[in-house]
Amino acid sequence: MFIFYLFIFYTGACLASFLLWLANHWNQESIPIKQRSRCDHCQQPLKWYQLFPIFSILFFRFRCPSCSNRISSFYLISELFIGLIVLIAVYQFLESNLLLTSYHLLILLRLAILILMSLIDILGRWVPDVLQAGIFICSIGVVQWSFYVLILLFLLLLLYHFGAKYIGGADIKLIFLLSISISIQQLPLLLFISSMSALIFFFLYNLLAKNKMIQIPFVPFLSLAYFYIILFN
Ligand SMILES: [Zn+2]
Repeated sequence: MFIFYLFIFYTGACLASFLLWLANHWNQESIPIKQRSRCDHCQQPLKWYQLFPIFSILFFRFRCPSCSNRISSFYLISELFIGLIVLIAVYQFLESNLLLTSYHLLILLRLAILILMSLIDILGRWVPDVLQAGIFICSIGVVQWSFYVLILLFLLLLLYHFGAKYIGGADIKLIFLLSISISIQQLPLLLFISSMSALIFFFLYNLLAKNKMIQIPFVPFLSLAYFYIILFN
């Protein structure tokens, strides 16, 4: 079982590596599907032994072997963290139910889209609408439509109109799209966990890092809170 979970963790790290590549190119508005992965700095195509998530970056000590340009530790942290999230999700599913059903696969698909949205938000401070649509499509089967969703939509439109200085339009859209697949009791928890974790991260980051953060990407915190609720609540 340990080998199986190690495999799941590494599959998550491979997913992270692919989503990081996709997020980087999405921010540059070109996705070179037929081109091999390249070093962002010297544009040399990566060799096969540079394509292993976690191991390659550690083996080459955070440097490109061609040009020695430093590779951000954000890549390693993302691969480890996303691998861990996928591991926890699969472990939770298998603990509660011995089979992975289409319901679980749709949650994993939403997880992948949310991770991609989070990476694009962190790297470029925006979120493509097509990914928001993807979240909606993957939620259709579990939509808890009720009167409260309409009231929530009205309140979020008000917030968008009057509070655009404090919260991004993409964050408001995502709050709405995530809330239609959770219950009314879970919505305050989603908002509480995401805003508290974002605030704590913001203060700790500005306390410890040399480059201060002015605007915080909120999508990663919304995504984490959503997955905590879906998996544990
Ligand atoms: Zn290079």
